Amino acid sequence: MTPNTHASAPSWHLPKEIDPLVEWSWRHWAVGRGWNRSSKGVLLCPPHASESIPRVEYSPGRSVASSVSEELFSGAETIRRAFIEDAGRGIVRVNVDPGLVWKQLVNLEGEAAAPTDSHERTAWPGEGASPGSTRFPLYDCLALVMEEAWRLSRGELGRQHALPSWPGDKLMALTLTHDVDVIDGYPKWQRLAKSMVVGIQNLIRGRVDMATGEWVRAIQWGVLGKDPFATVPDVLEDDRRLGVNSTFFFLSAAQRGERRDCSYGLGEPYARKCIRGVRDGGMEVGLHGSYRGFDNVKELQDQRLRLEQVLERPVGTYRNHFLRFRPRTSFALLAEAGFRVDSTVGWSPGNGFRAGTCFPFVTWSSGKKEASNLVEVPLIIMEGNLDPRERFATGEDLLGKSCRFIDEVRRFGGVLNVVWHNDRWYHERWPGFVPAYVKLVDMMRPEAWFCTLRDVAAVWEKRFRETVTVKA
Ligand SMILES: [Zn+2]
Repeated sequence: MTPNTHASAPSWHLPKEIDPLVEWSWRHWAVGRGWNRSSKGVLLCPPHASESIPRVEYSPGRSVASSVSEELFSGAETIRRAFIEDAGRGIVRVNVDPGLVWKQLVNLEGEAAAPTDSHERTAWPGEGASPGSTRFPLYDCLALVMEEAWRLSRGELGRQHALPSWPGDKLMALTLTHDVDVIDGYPKWQRLAKSMVVGIQNLIRGRVDMATGEWVRAIQWGVLGKDPFATVPDVLEDDRRLGVNSTFFFLSAAQRGERRDCSYGLGEPYARKCIRGVRDGGMEVGLHGSYRGFDNVKELQDQRLRLEQVLERPVGTYRNHFLRFRPRTSFALLAEAGFRVDSTVGWSPGNGFRAGTCFPFVTWSSGKKEASNLVEVPLIIMEGNLDPRERFATGEDLLGKSCRFIDEVRRFGGVLNVVWHNDRWYHERWPGFVPAYVKLVDMMRPEAWFCTLRDVAAVWEKRFRETVTVKA
């Protein structure tokens, strides 16, 4: 669909008595799709609202499905069945409780009862399965369905108003992030031994170039001290060369030690140098919350303060190591620990739209029944989930299948939030990943606003809070 600025934006208003959560959800749709507020038009209304409030209804022979692309609808079929009802006499009624949808998709309540994996995370449901909606941003699809219904009711089918743009008149946003799980090759001799083994494995696979690359790096390290895992400066250099602003997440242990959590400590001069280098390079620094501390507010506060001491600046952006996250409690916990932006909501074993949306969202505090001051920017693509068959293929086609997710974000004008771990800059071990990163940047440059998580969250939150609610 080509944006058509002549088509009017759908208008909406809210009934007087409305659940605050429904209002919240509605507002997100309005902001994401640039709907106008109005004292007359009604885009949709919750099913429990009074019957005197008109609903979107439209005439026989035209279905919402016909106006939305096949591909989108194959993913949103469940939504169509659930929310678009044939009211008889050829009238189709759009019937939706946005508060419920919000809870189930965006606020992740649907995940609370789902099975967990060995890291106590919601188990990856596989592509297209519930809970979550991995293949399509279903919450955003539903807004599109509402909009199509509204157009049908006005005979404006097929016309689309211009979606709200991001700064620089860009039609989508791209946030590049780096989780720094490893800052150097400690323990050195163990890692060197592994290099030898990896080299042999590559040789057996017939990858002579990778085997020799691995051994050359190991020798350079053992003899000349050039640590192949010390990649943070390389990532920074590449981002500066590419002219992009990115977000680096650092773990914040006092010292090295525990498995998974403390591969470096903030007391170490090299770690401090890396963090300050990233800061001085103009990038954002966020906290990569520890594996163990993810549901402990005191622990998160301590980690934040420790990182702030090194950074000499406040730290407001967060992502948990291993993406550990509890659907019911983590948002409130992070807000309490002093964070303003989180980017943990994504799948670790796969790419996709875990929160059902490709937009940031102001999180909802179920306890207080009001907006929290934490903005979530969902994670869509993790480099480790790029097609594994391509992993050892070297080259730039690694992005391959994931272009589908990029297309979805583009369709809605959302935020493509990606993570490339810094260890991928150990080129000999992970060939193809940095070229894929550069390809992504080049591909997105003409159409995306490149920004940090803090910046994109600030833009969204401002729009969200400035959207005035007009009640009939
Ligand atoms: Zn991590």
